[in-house]
Amino acid sequence: MGKVIGIDFGTTNSCVAYLDQGKPRVVLDKERYKIVPSCVYIYKKNDNVRLMVGRAAKSKYVENPFCTIHSIKRFLGKSYDSEDVRMAQERYFYILEKDEKAQSHEFDILIRIHEYDISTSPVDIAVYIFRYLKQMAEAYLREPMEDVVITMPNTFKTRYTAAIKQVAEKVGFNVIGLLDETMATAFAFGYLNKGEHTIAVYDLGGGTIDFSILRRVKGGYEELGSLGDGWLGGDDFDYAITEYLLREFKASTRNRRFADGKVYKDGITITDKDILRAIKTEAEKAKIALSDSAHTLIHVSNVIPEIDPDLHMDIKLSRDVLEYIVTDLIEKTISISLDAIDNARTLAPKFKIDALLLVGGQARMPKIKQRLREVFGEIIYDQILPEEAVAIGAAIYGNVLQAAKK
Ligand code: AMP
Repeated sequence: MGKVIGIDFGTTNSCVAYLDQGKPRVVLDKERYKIVPSCVYIYKKNDNVRLMVGRAAKSKYVENPFCTIHSIKRFLGKSYDSEDVRMAQERYFYILEKDEKAQSHEFDILIRIHEYDISTSPVDIAVYIFRYLKQMAEAYLREPMEDVVITMPNTFKTRYTAAIKQVAEKVGFNVIGLLDETMATAFAFGYLNKGEHTIAVYDLGGGTIDFSILRRVKGGYEELGSLGDGWLGGDDFDYAITEYLLREFKASTRNRRFADGKVYKDGITITDKDILRAIKTEAEKAKIALSDSAHTLIHVSNVIPEIDPDLHMDIKLSRDVLEYIVTDLIEKTISISLDAIDNARTLAPKFKIDALLLVGGQARMPKIKQRLREVFGEIIYDQILPEEAVAIGAAIYGNVLQAAKK
């Protein structure tokens, strides 16, 4: 029996883990990164379709967002008529169409890249990402990797399962188990903390928030309650910062004369989509920087080329201001958490949460930890890194399954 790997295929990022002589470890890519953006850049060269996957693909987003396919997990097993497609059409640049020839409405989403006349599907994009993860794991562990445990979102399981199994099969993986993401986090925690306990998992990723309460039972965990929002995550923080930057820029250009000779009484509104995208990318970088430092500088060159080619956006952002800008978003995640606990109480009126586990990249924000501490007390457990916990839990579960088989 070969090694088993745990795969956390996330909306924004993916991660692969394994056990090395009983100790959980994360697979590194060629550049020694642990996290792979769940992103594929598709284009054509000399009439041949070419792909970039992961970090290289994500870096193409500003240059050509129509070919940069991200957040594909949202569409696995979904139909074109779903709310997710409608939301994505408002927010994403790549084009989603209905596949009129599809045999099942659960697989009728088509991704169209008009520039290169390419049609692809969510399953295909997921295949490219999984293939990349497989190659990455094989290069790192220097052995063929087949047995996998793949983690699953807490909601929408049945059709997602069918889709992900299809993906795994196409890549040549043998799926020995599927595991809920929150359950996987619990396994990662349970590996280090034995005995009876009840935990809550606050999972704030790039696109979604999930809050779950799980009680340790013999052989695993039982879920007492769970609540989430599929369209509330780090991305919304980036949009909020972008809006703030645009307001600041507008205010700073009020009543000024520019190279085109005009005076803009109310200030200038940036509307160019390429520039807005560049601003959002810088907004995310600033947000991440402010998790470690108190101040950062946001610079975007040449933001109004047709009015004044020499004008750049230079705005200082402090952690305090960032926290103010995203207060509503943070509070929304808190109220989802409290509602999840209320719901769970109807099932188990007397549970006490022993530890609150933080998962998802956005949960690294210090203000979020502070607010959770204020609301839930000193039970926050952040010894497992938020981006790795799910993959590690999947690897642990995979080893449990393999041991049981033996
Ligand atoms: P995930 O989906 O768990 O990979 O989380 C991705 C989200 O986490 C993105 O919105 C990132 O901008 C955000 N993120 C990653 N690292 C940090 C950090 N250090 N501070 C704040 N947000 C972060």
